[in-house]
Amino acid sequence: MLKNFLNEVISIVVGKPSDSIVRLLEGDKYVNEFIIAKKLDLTINQTRNILYKISDYGLVSSIRKKDKKKGWYTYFWKIEVLKSLEFLKELTIKNITQLRNQIKSRETKGFYVCERCNIEFNEENAMLHDFTCNECGEVFTVKDNEKVIREFKKNEDKLVNKLKLIEEEITTEKARLDKIKMKELKKIEAEKLKQREEKRRIQKEAREKLKKESSKKKPSEKKSSKKKSSTLSKPKKNIKKPSKTKDKKKSKKK
Ligand SMILES: [Zn+2]
Repeated sequence: MLKNFLNEVISIVVGKPSDSIVRLLEGDKYVNEFIIAKKLDLTINQTRNILYKISDYGLVSSIRKKDKKKGWYTYFWKIEVLKSLEFLKELTIKNITQLRNQIKSRETKGFYVCERCNIEFNEENAMLHDFTCNECGEVFTVKDNEKVIREFKKNEDKLVNKLKLIEEEITTEKARLDKIKMKELKKIEAEKLKQREEKRRIQKEAREKLKKESSKKKPSEKKSSKKKSSTLSKPKKNIKKPSKTKDKKKSKKK
């Protein structure tokens, strides 16, 4: 179901069937644009044009990586599943509203039709045309609204059902994303804890080393060694980063 919805959304945006794009980009990993181009059998520019079009709606996202040798950027893409589903949801709600307005108008207004040309007119326009067809001269007949309304209501039911399914997919996708986020947070926390423990271990070792050294020395030297120990046990935080200006100049020359 999810795949059908994604196919539908991307096809609407691109303007033609796009299941191959969906198949390539639906995972959680970003895909190299050159691989996408190759698999779609398109040039890289054609591929980029399609992807930019979809990204205008926020339905795909990209990251870029610089090629160290050649100096250019390569883009990597993936589908934003949640945004695509929300886009389709909005569209479906809009379609339902339109359909309901049409049903309402059918229920309250009369419609006329030229049966020969199969052209329909509302009451005002039919009156303006004097209930006669411009094209063929045939006199209009009254449209059977009941039949049209029945057809519209059938479509409305279909769309309401579809909306429900889209909302279910949105709930599922949100839960999936939450799970991934939690996993990442836990990983970060574990990493932080590891770093703190490592720092403590290094500090402890340094203190013990200094203790040993100072106990070996003569009492007269103790004072200076104590001073050293205090600077060592508390490492300075503001370590200067190496300046990058040199590198920049180099790359500009290229
Ligand atoms: Zn006609």
